[in-house]
Amino acid sequence: MLNGYPPEYADCEAVHLTCSKNTRPLTAPDTIVLHYTAGSNGLASAYYLTRPDVAASAHLVIDRNGDIIQLVPFNVEAWHAGKSFHLGRVNLNHYSIGIELDNLGKLRREGEKFIAECGKEVQPSDVFVDEENGQPTYWHRYTDEQLKTVVLVCLLLMDRYPIRYLLRHSDITPRKIDPGPAFPREILELNR
Ligand SMILES: [Zn+2]
Repeated sequence: MLNGYPPEYADCEAVHLTCSKNTRPLTAPDTIVLHYTAGSNGLASAYYLTRPDVAASAHLVIDRNGDIIQLVPFNVEAWHAGKSFHLGRVNLNHYSIGIELDNLGKLRREGEKFIAECGKEVQPSDVFVDEENGQPTYWHRYTDEQLKTVVLVCLLLMDRYPIRYLLRHSDITPRKIDPGPAFPREILELNR
C-alpha cells in the first residue's frame, strides 16, 4: 500500500482487525471525521468497536504511541458519525473515513486530581486546559506521536481519495464534543 510514497510514509503501517458487521460499500469518500475514543487503551477500544453487538465502529484507531489499528477497509462504510449533517448532507458515514484517537476526553477536577469519565486519573502534565464561559475546562492531551501519525494518515488519504473536508465529530453534530479543544486546529487546516 505504501509503495511509491516518500520515505517518511514508509513506517506508516497498521495492525488489522476484522470488523464483520460493516459491509456497505464506501465509494470515493470526500471527508475525514476525527474522534476521540474516551477509552483508556487504544487496542482495547479498537477491539470493542469491532464487536458485533456494538453499534459503532471506525476505520482507524490511533494509539497514544502512534500505532495504527485498522478495523474497517477504506472501501467499506464504518459507523462513526451517527446522526450527522454537513453542508446539506446527512449521515456522514456514507461519505467519510472515521479516525478515532486514543484519548480519555474531557476530565473533571477533584482537588489536585484530574479524573476521566471512565474513572481513570490523568497526570497534570497530560492535562490540556481550555476555557468555556470564563471557567477552566480540562482535557486529556494528545501525544506528539499520535498527532504526527494522524497528520501522515490524513496526507496519505488526501493523496489517495478526493478528500475535501477534514472535520471533527463536533463539527457534524451538536451531540458530540470530540476530539475536543486539545486537538490542534492547525491539523484541521491541512487540506485548505
Ligand atoms: Zn466521535
